[in-house]
Amino acid sequence: MNEVNNTASCTIIGAGISGLMAANTLKSHGLSLRVLDKGRGVGGRMSTRHIDYALCDHGAQFFTVRQPEFREIVDKWEELGIVREWCRGFADSVELATEDGHARYIGCEGMNTIPKYLANDIDVRVNERAVSIVFRQGNWIVRTENKSIYRSDSLILTPPVPQSLALLDTGDVCLAKMERDSLETIRYEPCIALMVLLANPSSVPQPGGLQNPTQDINWISDNQIKGISQTPCITIHASPEFSKANWNGEDAEITGQLLKSAEEWLNFPVVEFQIHKWRYAKPIQCYPAPALTASGLQGLVFAGDAFGAPRVEGAAISGISAAKAIIEAMNGSI
Ligand SMILES: Cc1cc2nc3c(=O)[nH]c(=O)nc-3n(C[C@H](O)[C@H](O)[C@H](O)COP(=O)(O)OP(=O)(O)OC[C@H]3O[C@@H](n4cnc5c(N)ncnc54)[C@H](O)[C@@H]3O)c2cc1C
Repeated sequence: MNEVNNTASCTIIGAGISGLMAANTLKSHGLSLRVLDKGRGVGGRMSTRHIDYALCDHGAQFFTVRQPEFREIVDKWEELGIVREWCRGFADSVELATEDGHARYIGCEGMNTIPKYLANDIDVRVNERAVSIVFRQGNWIVRTENKSIYRSDSLILTPPVPQSLALLDTGDVCLAKMERDSLETIRYEPCIALMVLLANPSSVPQPGGLQNPTQDINWISDNQIKGISQTPCITIHASPEFSKANWNGEDAEITGQLLKSAEEWLNFPVVEFQIHKWRYAKPIQCYPAPALTASGLQGLVFAGDAFGAPRVEGAAISGISAAKAIIEAMNGSI
């Protein structure tokens, strides 16, 4: 087991926007921390993929700003050139884009620009899948698939809640019954994402995104029209119903069905396609607060988009709230 330099005040599981906002908040208060993520890079569901010369957002497509706290943060990102406004509304299958007044923001080089920026000065260990968590003698001890051991006084869990609960079960960490029960009511819907590289420009109308265009598809965007890809590259998000019904299907079969459903907006031929299955795409039943501090367990906080609001903004605010809960608990114990 590798335990060198692996002690910090706080371990954060997950380098999505929630974990990274928590990390930056803790860091600004002078706390030592590290973030572990099982992925090859940071960002979680704010993911941008290279396919040949194309760039493709295949998780979150844009974000909105509703809360003053997030407004301040996004204004700073905009000044720094990390994000920009994409548009103020989308077309659907019958109507051209209408402006509804709400700005939709995107990362300037894909949604992943934002988590990459947030991870800049943070100790993030990628390819580190947490496989067990125990609490022993005042320490949280996280073991990873690579056989590393990380110790800390506090622990923030940002994976989808069923995955966080499964991790706690490995070390028999026992939550208060009411807390466990309400965490178990959190539900997510899945989404099959199809990325399609086209030889020719698509027919997706301005501004490059279509909401609910067909029964099987609830989103189509052209990453070139969106302004992040040099070549035509389409993202298709299957509806939750289609995703559930075809979850175990063959990629080629799923692709055939989705391409047929979207053919009106694609100019064939397809050069290449890739599929990604998001099992926990979007929470449909959330916890009614931006974070949950476990009672009776030192410094254990749950965060993520299932806490408060099921979107990028909600996840960001949740991460900040989790960090503040840790800071308040530490100040209270001094
Ligand atoms: C297809 C799709 C479309 C979306 N569209 C939009 C949109 O247009 N607008 C919007 O606002 N939101 C959208 N969302 C939702 C948005 O992406 C999420 O709300 C937000 O990114 C969640 O951030 P998070 O940090 O809570 O979770 P995540 O981004 O999921 O981060 C959790 C991290 O935990 C890591 N992890 C999990 N288990 C372990 C483990 N055992 N060990 C180590 N690491 C682990 C994961 O790798 C992941 O990086 C969309 C999501 C999807 C999937």
